Amino acid sequence: MRDFAYVRADNIEAARNASALPGAMLLAGGTTLVDLAKCGVAEPSTVIDISHIEGLDAIDVSADRAIIGALTKMSHVADNAAVKSHFPAVSEALWQAASAQLRNMATIGGNLMQRTRCPYFRDPQNFPACNKRLAGSGCSAIGGVTRGHAVLGTSEACIATYPGDLAVALVAFDAEVDLGERKLKVEDFFLAPGATAEREHDIRPGEVITAIEIPGSAAARRSTYVKVRDRQSYEFAAASAAVGIELEGDGRTIRDIRVALGGVATKPWRARAVEEALKGKALDEATVREASDLAMEGAVDHGANHYKIALAPRVIARAILELGETA
Ligand code: FAD
Ligand code: SF4
Repeated sequence: MRDFAYVRADNIEAARNASALPGAMLLAGGTTLVDLAKCGVAEPSTVIDISHIEGLDAIDVSADRAIIGALTKMSHVADNAAVKSHFPAVSEALWQAASAQLRNMATIGGNLMQRTRCPYFRDPQNFPACNKRLAGSGCSAIGGVTRGHAVLGTSEACIATYPGDLAVALVAFDAEVDLGERKLKVEDFFLAPGATAEREHDIRPGEVITAIEIPGSAAARRSTYVKVRDRQSYEFAAASAAVGIELEGDGRTIRDIRVALGGVATKPWRARAVEEALKGKALDEATVREASDLAMEGAVDHGANHYKIALAPRVIARAILELGETA
């Protein structure tokens, strides 16, 4: 780990000013930044500690919307009664993310900014080729071990999977990220690699995430997050789905449905084809399974990750059918 300067920012303006400096990086819970610095991926010249800024850890929930401060701990949001009631998928996504110790340290802003778990990305000594670390250097994963890699949203430059859980639920329910001067849809905040794999987030120097805002809806109130992973204690998703449904008065026709996927794409992935196929249809198993397959339109595998193309539609179908059973 190389030497760096330490700055403690006591207010958001100080954080913005300091983060505009070349080579500066913010420190919130530190659970990602310290890891990346240890393995030589993050080499900040200045670390700006924002963890003491007051007023960025509030949770404000009503039926219309939730506003969650960027410094709120993952565990506090997961356990919040109003979040559980109005946005169950958000709470469930956080409960299934990382471990209890990590959730008690890690913040919502830091969670959105976490980097990919592609093992080649995290091993610069042995794998110098990585377009995400160094633009134009190549991709060590293509032709390598790809079991955890993405099948949707990939490019010739990068096939790394977006690893987080929370953002999948946020994308399903049209949440926005507040960067102070501007707000943007969480879906647009995450960037697919294209030819610029080094850019994962639409965030500019001097910008700090202050909050996320989630619009309330009937679909968000009846929602769930299903995560399939190699071990239950804590692990990143092999495939996950955030799903919300609103039914007509007959209790079986789908009026509104939201579906987003994790673990299989280069960014949190909204499955709009599945949503369109199911709106106005009866919530029965055959219809749901047929529609869920549409999520994999355009999927491209790299050998060992082929299983995800079969797995993801099953995860979506399971989430929808579980919600249907509770209707
Ligand atoms: P930090 O480490 O402090 O910061 C991370 C990055 O975000 C840094 O680049 C920092 O500069 C930037 N940043 C922080 N706050 C802001 C802000 N307000 N505005 C702009 N930039 C900011 N996550 C999951 O979703 N699911 C999992 O299953 C999961 N498993 C994990 C398992 C392990 C072993 C570990 C180590 C992590 C796991 N994670 C998982 C990731 C974990 O959730 C993140 O490490 C955590 O959320 C990061 O939050 P933090 O506050 O510690 O961020
Ligand atoms: Fe780097 Fe992306 Fe290739 Fe992984 S998949 S080695 S992150 S370019």
